[in-house]
Amino acid sequence: MFENLSDRLGSVFDRLTKQGALSEDDVKTALREVRVALLEADVSLPVVRNFVKSVEKKATGAAVTKSITPGQQVVKIVHDELIEVLRGEGEPGELRIGSAPAPILMVGLQGGGKTTTTAKLAKRLTERDKKKVLMASLDVQRPAAMEQLAVLGTQIGVDTLPIVKGEDPVAIAKRAKTQASLGGYDVYMLDTAGRLSIDEELMAQVEAVRDVTSPRETLLVVDGLTGQDAVHTAENFDERIGISGVVLTRMDGDGRGGAALSMRAITGKPIKFVGLGEKMDALETFEPERVAGRILGMGDIVALVEKAQQTLEAEQAERMMKRFQKGQFNMNDLKMQLEQMQKMGGMEGMMSMMPGMGKMAKQMEGAGIDDTMLRRQVALINSMTKKERANPALLQASRKKRIAKGSGLEVSELNKLLKQQRQMGDMMKKMGKGGMLKQAMSGMF
Ligand code: GDP
Repeated sequence: MFENLSDRLGSVFDRLTKQGALSEDDVKTALREVRVALLEADVSLPVVRNFVKSVEKKATGAAVTKSITPGQQVVKIVHDELIEVLRGEGEPGELRIGSAPAPILMVGLQGGGKTTTTAKLAKRLTERDKKKVLMASLDVQRPAAMEQLAVLGTQIGVDTLPIVKGEDPVAIAKRAKTQASLGGYDVYMLDTAGRLSIDEELMAQVEAVRDVTSPRETLLVVDGLTGQDAVHTAENFDERIGISGVVLTRMDGDGRGGAALSMRAITGKPIKFVGLGEKMDALETFEPERVAGRILGMGDIVALVEKAQQTLEAEQAERMMKRFQKGQFNMNDLKMQLEQMQKMGGMEGMMSMMPGMGKMAKQMEGAGIDDTMLRRQVALINSMTKKERANPALLQASRKKRIAKGSGLEVSELNKLLKQQRQMGDMMKKMGKGGMLKQAMSGMF
């Protein structure tokens, strides 16, 4: 999949990574090529624009580690951005099955791979998730479609609802529901009829089926090679029926593959699976990391940059520990610590992670040690100059007053903060002697 896209991007970055230093112009030129490559892959324009803008911003501000070239750094940034766009926001793409029997509604246009995907998914649920699955075809327009599902069912060893001639889709759906309850099935899958294009009759039919079954998942199966058309189809189905996720088929072909990149950003719906062939096990969970890797095809460079970053972090941690052991704990260190606490959800968040500490967190909150305080303390540190942060002993009474005023706080609060910083220094020194510091810090990085 994505062959054209990955070839295109690959050659852009090949040129880039061979150079040593990289100018802003080089990045701009490379990004122009990225833009063309994405557009050629039929990624929608707003998505391309955002993508390029975001990479440019990150590439300009990125700190480059000594052991890697700026070009390699850009590859990594593009890689991470691809993952971000593919993953999107909101819940991950897992299936919600829940209590039995769970209805899964399969919708889409004709020829998109709906029947094949229904069977592939049934096989996966049976074999991997140990679910008892029933499949039913609601395609009354094409009797061959019902036969097709029955044949696939036999092939993969999954039950299909017996075919009753002359029944309408809603009646079949109701029968599938009853059969699923009586037969002790965990899941029943409804393969609806497709059309060549979206039409009113099709939508009304799917809607009626949806209303009698209340599906746990409504999956749109769509041909991934159709690029932006696939995204439009998803928008249309979602507006009318409400879909919970998308399955992109034919991702084994060497087509443009841009649908994967646009889908989440435009529709807000997760891609849950990708179809990678006609065989019954050619279905994969959609994993942004893997897909981004395939698009870029530069896994070795990404790994190299990751390793270099880790080394850099380890070196920084080592230097920091050496300082701490000597009792050198300045305001920058305190700020980092306070911010880390904020990230963990403040005092209460941190304590609630430890069993039996919830109550204590409440008490501490009562004593004024809470999120607001953390924020205030960070604000105080931000008001100090670089020199003062590195060496808070420099702070004279007049500066203290100014800093406190600048943050809208009392000098007493600043004094409290300074005391805290000194105490932390002393504690670090003591811990450093006993080897406890190393232990504590290994958990931090
Ligand atoms: P439906 O009309 O949407 O039910 O489509 P079908 O399930 O009948 O599929 C149409 C054709 O596409 C069949 O020949 C399938 O074998 C093929 N197909 C489905 N999914 C994939 C896929 O992921 N990759 C490839 N290469 N072919 C697929």
